[in-house]
Amino acid sequence: MTTSTPTVCIVGAGPAGLTCARVLQRHGLAVTVYDADDAVDSRDPGGTLDLHADSGQIALADAGLTDAFAAAARPEGQAKTRRDHHGAVLAEFTPAPGDEAAPEIDRGRLRRLLDDHLRPGTVRWGHRLVRITPLGRGAHRLEFADGTAVDADLVVGADGAWSTVRPLVSDAVPQHLGVCFLDARFDDVDTRHPDLAALVGAGHLFANDNDGRAMILQRNGNGVVRGYLAFRAAPDWQVAAGLDLADPEGVRAHLVKEFGHWSAQLRSLVTRNDGDFVPRSFRALPAPLTWEHVPGVTLIGDAAHLMAPFGGHGANLAMLDGAELALALVAAVADPGTAAGLDRAVSGYEADMFARSGPLATSSNEALRQFFATTTPDAPNLPPDHAQEHRNYLARAAAYREERARRAAGAA
Ligand SMILES: Cc1cc2nc3c(=O)[nH]c(=O)nc-3n(C[C@H](O)[C@H](O)[C@H](O)COP(=O)(O)OP(=O)(O)OC[C@H]3O[C@@H](n4cnc5c(N)ncnc54)[C@H](O)[C@@H]3O)c2cc1C
Repeated sequence: MTTSTPTVCIVGAGPAGLTCARVLQRHGLAVTVYDADDAVDSRDPGGTLDLHADSGQIALADAGLTDAFAAAARPEGQAKTRRDHHGAVLAEFTPAPGDEAAPEIDRGRLRRLLDDHLRPGTVRWGHRLVRITPLGRGAHRLEFADGTAVDADLVVGADGAWSTVRPLVSDAVPQHLGVCFLDARFDDVDTRHPDLAALVGAGHLFANDNDGRAMILQRNGNGVVRGYLAFRAAPDWQVAAGLDLADPEGVRAHLVKEFGHWSAQLRSLVTRNDGDFVPRSFRALPAPLTWEHVPGVTLIGDAAHLMAPFGGHGANLAMLDGAELALALVAAVADPGTAAGLDRAVSGYEADMFARSGPLATSSNEALRQFFATTTPDAPNLPPDHAQEHRNYLARAAAYREERARRAAGAA
């Protein structure tokens, strides 16, 4: 990295990359984001996300988007019900009025919200990075599938689980966690699937059996419920089962057997989704993952610490990484010293990010294993205490802000 006004290129316009770009622009730094997608809404971005007070919401505040988020978020979506596979309620959580510890927002809505607050043209859609080559002194050349190329002083890999940037800093690759699921969508639930709407309520329904199967259903905006029908299996389970996933009736027949011992009401959910079943699986990078700083390149979000989504930390940490990296760069550029100043800022961000994400990645991966473990009445898989979890988010948010203020006072 050679200049005090560096050319910053972010690869990936997910929550991490867009938040980073927004905070940089807010502080007057130029940045370009490259994404493989053709447009902000060219693919189904997946289900809903809860943005935690101690991470995602801090990043939104850094981005100046707290009010915009509040206008788009669903605090009532924090509700959660846990049932066993017979349908019996094990635990229920209804957020108190004014509980803003972790409101929900649809991913597509969040992506658009962040993109709408960038200068026009900041994101170059339709740019799939295919090669990245070190040029010396921290500079890199990025080559895209459309044949174009660009040189950068700092490359920020925000390109998710299968990052093309990651191999520059680490040879770690995502590992399959032994659980696969089919993503099933239900449309217009209040009129077309009223029993499902009542089961899921305003938020989430978690149901599991004692043998590693689960249904996780979540209310999204616009009358949509998304469901994850999950079971322990190898990544190519459908090949072994002789299934064609494009044949929904064949898949349904398989699922009816897989969930055969579940209550009739819950089992009926596998047979009447709208649209296709989308196969997915849970994967994670080895945790905790760290690397020696490499000049001119870093990672944020899933590219740095892909983890199981049990804890709901992934997008939250991704956004906080983006904001923290941007603020570190802004501080370094505002205090132009030696050329090494920017690299020091990036390696400082990395040290903090490793400390922040490592324990959460480890505990999230363990939470997934426990949720899908074989259990007995003597060792039940107990639901978490969501009210306490929300108090924890708020307490940690206050501590995080205090620590930042203390550091800022120390630096002044
Ligand atoms: C089933 C499931 C449920 C989840 N639930 C939650 C939850 O409730 N709460 C939560 O916080 N997290 C959750 N997560 C995790 C969350 O989705 C991720 O942690 C988050 O999306 C990471 O954001 P990111 O910006 O790092 O990466 P991504 O969102 O993956 O974005 C990466 C971007 O990079 C682009 N890209 C990739 N490769 C290239 C390339 N070669 N060239 C150019 N562009 C490229 C992609 O198009 C994409 O736009 C869940 C994940 C799953 C799988």
